[in-house]
Amino acid sequence: MNVTINTDLPGPSSLELAKKRSSSVANGHASVNGVFIKKAVGANLIDVDGNIFIDFAGGIGTMNVGHCHPKVISAVKKQAEKFIHPCFTVAPYDVYVELAHRLSNLVPISKKCKAAFFNSGAEAVENAVKIAKIHTKRSGILVFKHGYHGRTQMTMSMTYKDDPYKKGFGPFNEDVHRAEFPSSHLDLSRLNIAPDKIACAVIEPVAGEGGFIPVSKDCMKKLRLFCDEHGIVLVADEVQTGFGRTGTLFAIEQFGIEPDLITVAKSIAGGLPLSGVVGKKNIMDAAHPGGIGGTFGGNPVSCAAALAVLDIMEKEKLPKKAIMIGEKVKEMITSIKETCPWVEGVRGLGAMQGIMIVDKDSGNPDKEHTQRISSFAFQNGLIMITAGSYGNIIRTLMPLNIENAQLEKGLEILRNALRVK
Ligand code: PMP
Repeated sequence: MNVTINTDLPGPSSLELAKKRSSSVANGHASVNGVFIKKAVGANLIDVDGNIFIDFAGGIGTMNVGHCHPKVISAVKKQAEKFIHPCFTVAPYDVYVELAHRLSNLVPISKKCKAAFFNSGAEAVENAVKIAKIHTKRSGILVFKHGYHGRTQMTMSMTYKDDPYKKGFGPFNEDVHRAEFPSSHLDLSRLNIAPDKIACAVIEPVAGEGGFIPVSKDCMKKLRLFCDEHGIVLVADEVQTGFGRTGTLFAIEQFGIEPDLITVAKSIAGGLPLSGVVGKKNIMDAAHPGGIGGTFGGNPVSCAAALAVLDIMEKEKLPKKAIMIGEKVKEMITSIKETCPWVEGVRGLGAMQGIMIVDKDSGNPDKEHTQRISSFAFQNGLIMITAGSYGNIIRTLMPLNIENAQLEKGLEILRNALRVK
């Protein structure tokens, strides 16, 4: 569908809903844009006033297969007609086991793997940490600057950015230790914990919320060696980098090492809440029966949707499309860089590209300018979100099967937005 903006944004129906929202929804659960959504299909969002947007935010990276993919809808319907939630802890079912089987064979780990499913990305990270702790009988956790791992107590402790994620919510877990982000070199000599006290190192192959910063391949190899040397479980947090986004099903495939555990969520189930930890059998089996799990973990409707997502990834060759999308984004940025000195550049992997906005004189991150760019894009029909520890990154998380014409149109709006001073 073409971009169509018929009203001021937000339009009258959105404004009406916003009034009700402000009297009944807690302020903390904020939204980037003020338009309420009526329908979503492919790479389009349609609001309650009939405005049609192109979606470059993709539900913060949950919509790699596009909104309401017919195969996801069909899998959801079929499963819901059979049963919705007997609860895996009470009475198990086939789709959970089938998904565990398929993912265990798909992850880039050569040893025998197993999986367990939960609801959110944060929950997957929490469980990866629990599994690593019980496996190693240690309690230390190594994380990195710019890391984002969630908003629960433990994952908030692991997350780097204070405002808005941690501000006022302390105290935090004291056994979380942070190293510099290994984008060019890895220095673990100044940690205030002995390596043999560390249960796991948790790293995003490309820092997501932290600003789309790829880890250098060399550093990832050094981290793997460090973990091997000291018996530390290496966890690749692929909640945002997963499911084709970076050009391979899992980003870590491009780093020449094998992690011990991988956390997955976001795009795994085409928009339904599902997350998981997948990894080496001996580590995954360290937790005793009942030690991990949860009422809704591995909900059958979500598992059925995830199986459909895996089929779509393969059939529509979405990882390959991610590379093509990334190339187009980079080309566009290169073409305007000269005339827009505040566009410092673009970085990322595959379709996970972050555009860096700085003050053209000082070279410092420019959060306000980034906001102006993203609101110009929104007013012109392109929904985008920002990222970065300093709030100065425009990120691309569009569905990977976005139609070519929509991608071109989205990039044209973005180009115009980036020209805004
Ligand atoms: N890890 C990473 C790398 C993420 O990007 C996110 C979400 N942005 C999370 C964990 C937390 O996921 P959720 O919001 O589903 O809890």
